Amino acid sequence: MKTMDLTDARNEMVKHQIAGRGVKNRLVLDAMRKVPREAFLAEHFHELAYDDTPLPIAANQTISQPYIVAYMIESLGLKGGERVLEIGAGSGYAAAILAEIADEVFTVDRIAELAEKATATLRSINCLNVRVLHGDGTQGWPEHAPYDAIIVAAGGPRIPESLKSQLKIGGRMVIPVGLANASQQLLRITRISETNYQIKEIADVRFVPLIGEEGWQDEDEREAI
Ligand code: SAH
Repeated sequence: MKTMDLTDARNEMVKHQIAGRGVKNRLVLDAMRKVPREAFLAEHFHELAYDDTPLPIAANQTISQPYIVAYMIESLGLKGGERVLEIGAGSGYAAAILAEIADEVFTVDRIAELAEKATATLRSINCLNVRVLHGDGTQGWPEHAPYDAIIVAAGGPRIPESLKSQLKIGGRMVIPVGLANASQQLLRITRISETNYQIKEIADVRFVPLIGEEGWQDEDEREAI
């Protein structure tokens, strides 16, 4: 009975919060209808799983708002069959959505506890085409590069060069970038050639900090600005 209720809640969420707010891509909408967001949350948050809001996960981090996950993935323009890199695995939810569309998903988190938990959750829902790495995602995951698409779920002060270099020519990256705590621009970057990238601002967003070699040094550095 409970499972049934959540399936209804999920379909309603996709209809009103995702499609209702302008996400049109069929692959994205189908993926959002399929992946059980509650599986990525602590039990006491299950009833909030289909509210269109970010929610706390372990280590002071958040699972992103479903609409923004859908919007970011739609803006990657995936058609199916791709190899995708995600920075900021967090709960693993966005990776599971990506894995419904793409062929292979590689996701990185700097917090070991989250990387381990995401691995276990993804396995528990039988999502087998995602690989999770514990490490600094501002350096990408060079072993599996180049990627057709890169999605960054944390906001840094600039676009990491390592990520730009791991994008295929013709590939796309979405990343929040901004100096202030309160506001970041979501950028969509298309690699036009070996040396040229087209950059477009597509939304104002607010993400947790991207902390690493080519991001913020620590929580305090961004707080101080
Ligand atoms: N996509 C996630 C939400 C991620 S929240 C989901 O669907 O649940 C952002 C995540 O980015 C956090 O888990 C944080 O630990 C991680 N993060 C921040 N800086 C990072 C870095 N340099 N490399 C990898 N992960 C990073």
